[in-house]
Amino acid sequence: MGLFDGVISKAKDVAKMATNKTEEVVGVSKLKLKSMNINSQIKKTFEELGSAVYSMNKKNRNNGDIVKKLLIDVDKLFVEQKDIIQQISNIKHEKICNSCGTSISSDYAYCYNCGDNIEKNNIKNYTTLSE
Ligand SMILES: [Zn+2]
Repeated sequence: MGLFDGVISKAKDVAKMATNKTEEVVGVSKLKLKSMNINSQIKKTFEELGSAVYSMNKKNRNNGDIVKKLLIDVDKLFVEQKDIIQQISNIKHEKICNSCGTSISSDYAYCYNCGDNIEKNNIKNYTTLSE
């Protein structure tokens, strides 16, 4: 009976692990899709920004308010984008280098892109947050 229970609980563990892995993959692909959507929104906003600035200079239109609004929109999108990248990194158990923004497996202490100390950066970040 003991052995049988053991087999069942082991099977449950394996099933649970597989579920977690699936959720992880689904979560990451959902976030990646979201990130792609934000990318195209950023691109679109930059296009609108360019066209607003163009007509402002070329046709003497007062687009100051539109330009201001679009600049705020772009900044919001960048914040959203950063948040999504952070979420993906959390799911994949990665860290983000504060110097260059590369996501790095939590096994590494140094960024392979710029060589910065990630542990130190994250501690610094934490201190800044708690201040
Ligand atoms: Zn780096």
